[in-house]
Amino acid sequence: MIALTNAAPLANAIRKAKSLRPRVQFVAFRVYQVISPCSGNVYRVTFSVNPQTGSRQGHCTCRAGVEAMACWHLAAAVAVHQAIQAVRVHAKAQLEAARESAKELRREREMVALNPS
Ligand SMILES: [Zn+2]
Repeated sequence: MIALTNAAPLANAIRKAKSLRPRVQFVAFRVYQVISPCSGNVYRVTFSVNPQTGSRQGHCTCRAGVEAMACWHLAAAVAVHQAIQAVRVHAKAQLEAARESAKELRREREMVALNPS
C-alpha cells in the first residue's frame, strides 16, 4: 500500500505516466485496470480510505507496487480516479440543486392551489 497523502512521492511516477499515456479502465468504484502501452501488461490499481483516520492509500499489482513503491500505473489511475470523483461531486451538487428547485416549485403550486385568485 502506498499512502496518498501528497503528490511529492508520486512526482516521478506522474511524470512517467504523463509521457507514456497508458490506458486506464474503470473496473469498479476505486478499482482500475492500467494497460502498459509498451508491454501490454495489465495491472490492477485499487484505492482505499481508512475509515478511522481518513487517510488514503493506493495499491498496484505490479512489481514496484507490491514493494510499496509509487509506480506510474498508480499515478495514472490516480488522475482518472480524481477526474471521476470530481464529476461525481459535481453531479451530486446538480442533483441537489434540481431537487431544491422541484421542492420550491411544488410549494409555489400548493400556494396557488390554496389561494386561487
Ligand atoms: Zn504499478
